[in-house]
Amino acid sequence: MRASLLSKLGTAYLLFLLAALAVAGFSSKMDLRRDALLVAFALVATGLALWLGLWKRFSRRVAELKQSARRLATADFRPTPADSSRDDLAELRDAMNAAAAGLEARTGALTQARDRWTAILRGMVEGIAVIGAGERVAFCNDTFSEIIGMSAARAEGRPILEVVRQPEVLDLIRRGLAGEEGLRGEMEVGGARRRVFGVTVSPVPGSPEETTGDAPIRPIGAVAVLHEITELRRLEQVRRDFVANVSHELKTPLTSIQGFAETLLGGALDDRVNSRRFAEIIRDHALRLSRITDDLLKLSRIEAGKLEPEFQTVPAKELIERAIEAARPRAEAKRLALRLADAPETLRLRGDPNLLREVLDNLLANAIQYTPEGGRIEVSAAEEQGCGAIAVTDTGIGIPEAEQERIFERFYRVDAARSRELGSTGLGLSIARHIVEAHGGRIEVKSEVGEGSRFSFSIPLDR
Ligand code: ADP
Repeated sequence: MRASLLSKLGTAYLLFLLAALAVAGFSSKMDLRRDALLVAFALVATGLALWLGLWKRFSRRVAELKQSARRLATADFRPTPADSSRDDLAELRDAMNAAAAGLEARTGALTQARDRWTAILRGMVEGIAVIGAGERVAFCNDTFSEIIGMSAARAEGRPILEVVRQPEVLDLIRRGLAGEEGLRGEMEVGGARRRVFGVTVSPVPGSPEETTGDAPIRPIGAVAVLHEITELRRLEQVRRDFVANVSHELKTPLTSIQGFAETLLGGALDDRVNSRRFAEIIRDHALRLSRITDDLLKLSRIEAGKLEPEFQTVPAKELIERAIEAARPRAEAKRLALRLADAPETLRLRGDPNLLREVLDNLLANAIQYTPEGGRIEVSAAEEQGCGAIAVTDTGIGIPEAEQERIFERFYRVDAARSRELGSTGLGLSIARHIVEAHGGRIEVKSEVGEGSRFSFSIPLDR
């Protein structure tokens, strides 16, 4: 019932009441007056009851609306139950319900967006921390917690001073909180396993409304991003070492060539015996130089990812027999027994025959080189865990355990001076490992000093 209709009804009722009272007042007849008074009394009583009912209903609905408004303030968007009334209060209730539904939809969308961003930030490979008021960590993702070694639950809410120990990073964060842009730095963490991170800090701008006049917008926090550069720094070091190693490797033969050439030109040319010897030394060093440059070129091609094996079916036994055949003269010159121990006829590898031969030649050359006269070298092949494994076993000088992994590094030699004398480049095993890995295989060594070594590499089978 609409309010205007109610007030009309109320007015009509009052007029009716006054008329009844007037009749009661002016009537001369006693019973007529009494009847009128009774009617008036009845009407007053009903009117009062009616008003009382209406008032109670009104205050209950107002209380309901007040309650809904309070719920809204606490983000409880349940609607106020509707009834059949269609007055101003009902309109207010409908408007409040519509506002609640709108707010619920917008809050839901905002929560969804926030959750999405949080999930993205949490899953990022970079470590991210947001530092807010009071220099406290407002948010940090999993990577950041892993880097600083403190869970997000512990770090969030703490002063950054208790979370990050590196003074240079703290300084960057403070400058970021003061509004400085484009802040970059580096930090190191970890003891045995040192890790290096690039640090970027940017201020989080506050809202312009909170800024007075022409004053710059005050930041409300700072974001610190940590990205790992350990590998980059390692590669830089490897490159520096490599350049130093190459220069060193080239310098030795070049110095000899220069020295002997100068000796020849200085008069030794006339010395028929020595001049020939000097020329031979120059040739040997030149050969060594060319071996080094050949190996370096090969290695750089492999490392540039240009090594693309031409995969074919490679019968393991045939591959070994040919390699043994080629190595036999050198083995015999050193009185070494070289033989094929065991290789199933049916063992077939999936690989590039030329590259696999290069690996085997290198292992055989090393075995011959590092096995004293009278020793034994055996080559075998077998199926192992779905791969074909070829092993070269010698009774040579062996390799100390601490150096067994390192011999696959470029230029690494157990006894550098002696190996160099023997004409080795220190690149053979490094090349072999690259080739084996390009085939999806593995190369490894088992060795004991004074007893011998066993180099084996596995290559997937050709099925
Ligand atoms: P190179 O033989 O040209 O020096 P490699 O990369 O082939 O280079 O080998 C690296 C080092 O590993 C060698 O200098 C040597 O010290 C050690 N090595 C390799 N093979 C053997 C072996 N069969 N027995 C003992 N030492 C070996």
